[in-house]
Amino acid sequence: AGIESGTLVPVKPEVQPSAGKTPKPSSQSKPPVIASTKKKPQKTETKTTSKRRTRALVIMIDPGHGGEDPGAIGKRYRTREKDVVLSVAKILRAELNRLEGFRALLTRDGDYFVPLQRRVQKARAAKADFFVSIHADAWVKPAAKGSSLFVLNTKGRVSSSNKWLARNQNNADLIGGANISTKDKQIARILMDMSFTAQVSDSTIYGAYILNELSRINQLHKSKVEQANFAVLKAPDIPSVLVETAFLSNPEEERKLRTQTFQRKLACAIGNGILKGFGRKAVLA
Ligand SMILES: [Zn+2]
Repeated sequence: AGIESGTLVPVKPEVQPSAGKTPKPSSQSKPPVIASTKKKPQKTETKTTSKRRTRALVIMIDPGHGGEDPGAIGKRYRTREKDVVLSVAKILRAELNRLEGFRALLTRDGDYFVPLQRRVQKARAAKADFFVSIHADAWVKPAAKGSSLFVLNTKGRVSSSNKWLARNQNNADLIGGANISTKDKQIARILMDMSFTAQVSDSTIYGAYILNELSRINQLHKSKVEQANFAVLKAPDIPSVLVETAFLSNPEEERKLRTQTFQRKLACAIGNGILKGFGRKAVLA
């Protein structure tokens, strides 16, 4: 299904994620240094930005797993990843939807499985400006703990470019309206690679903001944005990140993940990171 079978319907006319509607991170100053104690330059909320905007920023929130796929399962309380991440995602949706200029959606809002490509498809169909997948980590050693954040890696980028080009002849809109079938395939490949490169570059900047917010409420498992070949991060034109909130395999973090308080903190941290990425103030608490 989805990308693999080439059924993805082109929905977005923009070539690159940075062909923006709003202040994009790429046009902003550098992302914050993670866990830095230095004061960050205070960005003043520009009223004109929201007035000029004609459509809300669409944030697609993806609670990992679901249905027959429980995800990781906690050792101590048998907490299921699919339940915890759905709670966090719902809080995040509610918080973002309270804000003017944002429209938050979920790839699933109940306990059912959605295929990975379908999640990407949903984001593209909704013309999402940002995609965030929410997970809880697990490792064989119970000592592993902390939050981490991933964007797509080079390997995922290259293989995705190939797949999109090979199986989506009607994705011409992705490369600025150029008709892939009649133009040089090599140019199409270069443009597709550029789109993915811009996506990952934007995602890394948003990701750094989110990771910085997470560092205020939890320790970080890895202090830098990491890269991995995750299928849900493969929209060529939507900045996409995957957050590992904490470790269900760590007894203390499992306990915290079950609490409404910590779920709320996670949701607000992710939300504030997104807000900062779009040049807004962090107002969620
Ligand atoms: Zn997961």
